[in-house]
Amino acid sequence: MAERNADLTAFNTLALPARAHCLVRPTTLDELEQVLAGHDPQEPIHVIGEGSNLVIEDDLPGLTVVLALDGMMKVRETSEHVWVAAGAGVHWDDLVAWTVEQGWQGLENLSLIPGTAGAAPYQNIGAYGVELAQVLEQVTVMELATGTVSHFSAENCDFGYRDSRFKSRDKGRYVITGIELKLNRQPHCNISYGPLKQHFAGQDADAVTAAAVRKQVIAIRQSKLPDPAVLANAGSFFKNPVVDVQKAESLKAAYPQLVSYPQQDGVKLAAGWLIEAAGWKGKRLGPVGMHSEQALVLVNHGGATSADVLALAAAVRADVWQRFGVQLEQEPVVLP
Ligand SMILES: Cc1cc2nc3c(=O)[nH]c(=O)nc-3n(C[C@H](O)[C@H](O)[C@H](O)COP(=O)(O)OP(=O)(O)OC[C@H]3O[C@@H](n4cnc5c(N)ncnc54)[C@H](O)[C@@H]3O)c2cc1C
Repeated sequence: MAERNADLTAFNTLALPARAHCLVRPTTLDELEQVLAGHDPQEPIHVIGEGSNLVIEDDLPGLTVVLALDGMMKVRETSEHVWVAAGAGVHWDDLVAWTVEQGWQGLENLSLIPGTAGAAPYQNIGAYGVELAQVLEQVTVMELATGTVSHFSAENCDFGYRDSRFKSRDKGRYVITGIELKLNRQPHCNISYGPLKQHFAGQDADAVTAAAVRKQVIAIRQSKLPDPAVLANAGSFFKNPVVDVQKAESLKAAYPQLVSYPQQDGVKLAAGWLIEAAGWKGKRLGPVGMHSEQALVLVNHGGATSADVLALAAAVRADVWQRFGVQLEQEPVVLP
């Protein structure tokens, strides 16, 4: 069952070459429990999904777990809501497609985000005005050190912008084995995001179905984002930085075109705008570059190593800091 010295190139969408000392792909909770029980506690454990938010910097020592826990099902319902459960290994967009086909509303804005259901809570995936936290009921986890299974309600996951307890205070402590979501039976679609609002402007309210929103989100994503199967990338390489109001105002005075969104705790700036304004859109450094259509996406044009990726990221970060005095934080997780 365990694969030694496994090639991870196909396990990360940046297509970085690296190897796992020992790779396992448990298909059941029992298998996962056995793997963890037989594991040397002195050795590290890495959990990966589809590798769409990773920079694998070097070969992974110890144990690498790729969860293949399948299954999606309705667990209960009322006249207003339906609760669905999915195994951690389910491909995220299969879950979105299935729920939308059933006529359930809640996941349509999160259509076509790469990765697994199990990774979705890790960084609280979000897109087009919706975050997973808004629809998540609970997360089921197994503690790596003990094999103990627990459930965390959404309130106990410390969700923030691209953040959760699994990425912060409990980093490396749990493997997420499944998620449960609470969806609506009636359409309450969120079309507040500009391009969605424009698309549906003037249409009847009953035209705004989950299926129609999903279709539009897919069209927008396909027009903007490079497909990792064609051009290796890990999506947005930096988070949108949040600065205080004073800083945002002084930047706005100097750069009136700056794209920004007011938040409760300050002002969120569009990292893609900052990177493009610093001249990095479409620019290459060796085999890597910032995408020519979407400056926030770092792409591997072929043959890149993690050193190439991290060198470009550092150069972009330093330049944005020097020009705008804004710190960019990397979104993809660096392993090991
Ligand atoms: C083209 C493209 C577009 C993207 N667009 C978006 C977007 O719109 N919004 C967004 O939020 N993200 C986006 N992403 C990022 C990515 O799709 C998400 O972060 C996704 O949830 C990662 O899933 P994964 O299975 O590939 O996780 P991986 O990349 O394999 O892992 C990411 C992190 O999650 C941890 N992890 C994975 N599975 C588990 C588990 N079962 N238990 C515990 N920890 C786990 C890993 O240890 C790692 O730290 C995009 C990526 C790409 C390539």
